[in-house]
Amino acid sequence: MTDFIVIGGGSAGCVLAAELSRRKAGSVMVLEAGPSERHPLVSMPMALMWLMGSNRDWAWKTSPQEHAGGRMISVPRGRMLGGSGSINSMVWFRGRAADFDDWDRPGWRYADLEPAFEAVEAKLRPTRMTGAHPLSEGLAPMLGSNGQAIPTPEYESAGVCAHNLIMGRRNSAADAFLRRRPDVEIKTGAQVDRLLWQGDRATGVRLVSGEELYAAKGVVLSAGSLASPAILMRSGIGPADHLRDHGIDVRRDAPQVGENLHDHPGCGLHFCAPGSGYGLEPAQWLDWLAAPFRYYGMGTGRLASPTVEAAAFFNARGDCAEPDVQSHFIPFHLDWTGNRYALKSGYFADVVVCRPKSRGRLTLKNSHGRAAPVIDLGLFKDESDLDTLHAGLERLRDLLEQADFGPRRAAEAQPGAEITGEALRSHIRQSAGTAYHPVGTLALGGPVTDRLAVKDTEGLWVADASVMPNVTSANTNAPSMMIGYRGAEFIAEDAA
Ligand SMILES: Cc1cc2nc3c(=O)[nH]c(=O)nc-3n(C[C@H](O)[C@H](O)[C@H](O)COP(=O)(O)OP(=O)(O)OC[C@H]3O[C@@H](n4cnc5c(N)ncnc54)[C@H](O)[C@@H]3O)c2cc1C
Repeated sequence: MTDFIVIGGGSAGCVLAAELSRRKAGSVMVLEAGPSERHPLVSMPMALMWLMGSNRDWAWKTSPQEHAGGRMISVPRGRMLGGSGSINSMVWFRGRAADFDDWDRPGWRYADLEPAFEAVEAKLRPTRMTGAHPLSEGLAPMLGSNGQAIPTPEYESAGVCAHNLIMGRRNSAADAFLRRRPDVEIKTGAQVDRLLWQGDRATGVRLVSGEELYAAKGVVLSAGSLASPAILMRSGIGPADHLRDHGIDVRRDAPQVGENLHDHPGCGLHFCAPGSGYGLEPAQWLDWLAAPFRYYGMGTGRLASPTVEAAAFFNARGDCAEPDVQSHFIPFHLDWTGNRYALKSGYFADVVVCRPKSRGRLTLKNSHGRAAPVIDLGLFKDESDLDTLHAGLERLRDLLEQADFGPRRAAEAQPGAEITGEALRSHIRQSAGTAYHPVGTLALGGPVTDRLAVKDTEGLWVADASVMPNVTSANTNAPSMMIGYRGAEFIAEDAA
């Protein structure tokens, strides 16, 4: 029997499993529902466009979002080793120091977390992207940034980002942590249905196949913000009435399980013109033919682009220097009509709200282990998020005028520069999505202790993005891995 079972081999799970093993806490088995990450499209940065919607993506949808036109919004989530970090854009941001200080949880102040970030970065090796598209390089002047400086959520800034890419290949938590520990047992295609118990002690798991696996020291939930609370609820820990409604025996009434779900809401502007960004316009066909040779020969070129090459942080209303929105810049023509293969060229920039106030809820559709959860992101439930996004998009238009795009500058094609004021607000409601950063469903200080143990249980911990009480002000991969690292520190000590 293994000592630890880690449920989910994603960004946090890979770091946690490798670190438990390195610390000699005991033997470790990782159970991952999806397949291996060893596939040419996973390591090729640009290919994330094709991975989304494939069998390596859970491809979930939200419930109809009342304040966003009643739409069901896409929720991509990585379904393979490396998790969402195997289909993401690899943009690397720790977040603001104040994000962690504001969590106000013992052991989670920024100063406590810096060593964990440094240890993760020593392996992930995020560096400023080389070979970025000239449009991405042209972004920096719009906020007066030094062209070579990496943007940061700490102050208004713009430019090419750091990515966890090595020689044009994805360097995920699976590559940098899990695969370096051959002593960690990995089971792919192992989807966990629920936990097994002896009294209050989690002793193992039952897979959806019916197979049961046991752990001597404990079980760690690292299945991500949407799957971890669902597994916990199916195992009898969650809001009692909701569990009873689905015929689940209530082990403990824990109303906060699944609450506090939130993500960065966002909306984008599409720009389109011949000779602008990467695209399928006929003038670029030869470049596309040469792309595989450049990529496999030198690790460069458009196939090595992680799509989000650059970013900006700024104050939506421009009335103080503290950024409250982030913009992701993609130097590709992204079509908005559903036609993936439009013969055009262009670029895309969005705005996402750094510290959203809206909160939703994660619940179960039924008690079956294979069922997708009901994902209510509560988008724009707090109208101030819509206000900030609206102001941010208006300001982004002005800022982009200051970018150094030269002859590649294109006109706004969607929604179109004439769409302003109330019309823009309504466009946001009808088209906004998120940055794919759901967090908060098993928050520190809520159902989970500051040492990541599930309250009132033994041998059960959570280590993934679900424990963030509030989302950080930028992309969430680095903080998720930090949580995996911190989890290993706590669990190695506490399980001993
Ligand atoms: C398309 C996309 C682009 C993104 N871009 C960026 C970016 O550029 N930069 C950035 O910082 N962040 C980005 N993110 C967000 C970032 O990748 C995530 O916040 C981070 O990976 C979350 O880590 P996690 O460990 O909490 O969950 P995940 O990495 O999602 O891991 C959860 C794992 O658990 C597995 N699992 C789920 N259910 C079960 C089950 N029942 N049994 C067994 N296994 C299970 C999943 O298959 C998955 O492997 C992006 C996310 C997406 C989806």
